[in-house]
Amino acid sequence: MARVLEVKGIVQGVGFRPFVFNLANQCRLKGRVANTSGGLSIHVEGIREGLEAFCSQLAEKGPPLARITEISVRSESLKGYSSFKIVASQRRALKTALIPPDVSVCEDCLRELFDPNDRRYGYPLINCTNCGPRYTIIADLPYDRPHTVMRAFTMCDTCRDEYNDPANRRFHAQPNACFDCGPQATLLDGAGNRVPCGDPLDEAASLLKQGHILAVKGLGGFHIAADAANRNAVTRLRQKKHREEKPLAVMSYDPVSVRQYAHVGPEEKILLTSHCRPIVILRKKKINPLSEGISPQNGTVGVMLPYTPIHYLLLKHDFIALIMTSGNLKEEPIIVDNAEALSRLAQVADYFLMHDRDIYLRCDDSIVRETAGATRFLRRARGYVPAPILLKKKHPQVLACGAELKNTVCLIRDDQAFVSQHIGDLTNLETFTSFEQTINHLKRVLDVNPEIIAHDLHPDYISTRYAQENGAQQRIQVQHHHAHILSCMAENRIEGPAIGLSFDGTGFGADGHVWGGEIMIAEPLRYTRIGHLSNAPMPGGSSAIKEPWRMAVSYLYATFGNEFWNLDLPWFEDVGEKRIKIIIEMIKKNINTPATSSMGRFFDGIAGIIGLGNRATYEGQAAITLENLMGDNNVGEIYDYEWTSGDMHRMVFQPIITGVLKDIKKGVDASIISGRFHLTLIRMISGLCEVIRREWDLNRIVLSGGVFQNAFLLTGLTRALEEKNFEIFCHRLVPTNDGGISLGQAVIAASMANG
Ligand code: ZN
Ligand code: ZN
Ligand code: FE
Repeated sequence: MARVLEVKGIVQGVGFRPFVFNLANQCRLKGRVANTSGGLSIHVEGIREGLEAFCSQLAEKGPPLARITEISVRSESLKGYSSFKIVASQRRALKTALIPPDVSVCEDCLRELFDPNDRRYGYPLINCTNCGPRYTIIADLPYDRPHTVMRAFTMCDTCRDEYNDPANRRFHAQPNACFDCGPQATLLDGAGNRVPCGDPLDEAASLLKQGHILAVKGLGGFHIAADAANRNAVTRLRQKKHREEKPLAVMSYDPVSVRQYAHVGPEEKILLTSHCRPIVILRKKKINPLSEGISPQNGTVGVMLPYTPIHYLLLKHDFIALIMTSGNLKEEPIIVDNAEALSRLAQVADYFLMHDRDIYLRCDDSIVRETAGATRFLRRARGYVPAPILLKKKHPQVLACGAELKNTVCLIRDDQAFVSQHIGDLTNLETFTSFEQTINHLKRVLDVNPEIIAHDLHPDYISTRYAQENGAQQRIQVQHHHAHILSCMAENRIEGPAIGLSFDGTGFGADGHVWGGEIMIAEPLRYTRIGHLSNAPMPGGSSAIKEPWRMAVSYLYATFGNEFWNLDLPWFEDVGEKRIKIIIEMIKKNINTPATSSMGRFFDGIAGIIGLGNRATYEGQAAITLENLMGDNNVGEIYDYEWTSGDMHRMVFQPIITGVLKDIKKGVDASIISGRFHLTLIRMISGLCEVIRREWDLNRIVLSGGVFQNAFLLTGLTRALEEKNFEIFCHRLVPTNDGGISLGQAVIAASMANG
């Protein structure tokens, strides 16, 4: 008997055909396997037992990088094949294939890397069909070597034999290379001169040991590396990179090394060791050997395990951890080009460890955190992109341009949404160039040319202007918080109306105000704003984000009016009476002071009132410090809260501010105040949701927006809502912050064009 199997998903460029070849031979089947548009087609024939074993193992045992989304099986007539063969791929067929993300070096390659008898012993760019760069080296389709940066290298005979042998684990591994024919590592000093040494990797490790700062070329860009246990090195790195307090990511050899300084739970270990190798946010141990400067005044640390052979060759030299922070200057995109690294990173790095395999497309490290029983993305990039988000139904092609900060873009093709890697803050020219590059690249490798373009409502966003200037047939504006909620609905594959809680820092509201504490009834085609945090003045607009004490003044003045000065909080003096007076004047006269319902600013304000808000060196710092303050102690009573009703539910902040002030005056510890504040919010929001459930007869709640990066809030609120028997949807596939916006925009625009 014979069967034909059609396999869809990520099944090309991941070693699927050799896997099928070997499996068919094991099951004593004859036939053919070939790439088709969108997947693989397999014809197998033989006895029933063999066919059954083949079908069940195909789904269960695929190669590690494959992701099967669909297998269909049908009976076929016997063709009388004499063997099983891999048939050459048709070019046309490869156009709709999915490109795999970059993958960390695999166990087999590691074994060879550290085996003195292997011909690739110590080869810093070792890879195979199951591992190595993919997304970042592909320039065009089909995914063949001439379309990758590896075209610059001609395989030696030995490598070519591996590449052509279906039974070899390097069969059709496009980046296949060795010492004889492939790219090589070099070590340069700050002036770009080659450092005389035997092995560049060993020499680089010893420079790190001595406390030097190195720029190290990775998969999707350069890192800045230094010994994380060396205080001087860490301090010097911060000074040179002008990065004052934002946490620095570190890399350790294995989970055992990580446990010297951080707590690693079972789920976190799975994340750390997964072949996506994200940065995982872990709880720091109270006493640990890392320099305090890694993540000052922060209970967590971002950790990843090595993912390229170069990382392994460095870390085997007994470091507890190396700092591995993005190789960029202030908010600019991560640097990918050797010459650019030499010229621009010279002000930070003492030495450069690089190689001559180009990076075609930049891709930052992904960042995840285990919260409320699931993995949450803070940043989605290397290892995950460009794997698609599967949508509930097919849509017309759309390009969505995303938001301003933490920008990503999204392209929809059929029932798949391709959310790009994190592009960054679209506030400088370099990031914008990267934004355009990514859009053009994705269009090319996905073979799409959308006639619908979606963008934010904000008239001044660079992404909005891009959309206006790149004339698609249909341009659709999407409100920021609507996009947040729809991104969460899309990844959870729900469509119908739901109660959406969209809490974040800033988004352009339909009424021209700054929104960010929004409750809406949302569906793809429309939303109804039914509630929000009551408005407060935001003196100086975006300057209030950098100086959270401004929001503190704003909330206090709104609550206590002219009694303000009697409050006499300790930080009044630090900030200076004069500056506070100016802010109050701005509020009174409504000068450069938009109104905001932002939940993020509310957190900033509370942090400011407690005295944590004199200055934020990165967005959300005060709110993060506020969350980190909380201990495990029981906080007792919570604050009074209320909301006004009518056609709009307004959550009033005055009773909460009053409660916080009373506690400060009583000398209650800041950690308790923070705990009470969080619990009050949870009680207020979940209570209001019950009212809304009755009014609208809806039981589904969707949570989205950057504020839900707050682990305590997300955990507490989902628990409270679960107790009230709500059906709750949170993010698991894209970030809850503005990195998820493009997905929501895309789905909304596609639905509008559909309907
Ligand atoms: Zn490998
Ligand atoms: Zn070779
Ligand atoms: Fe947002």
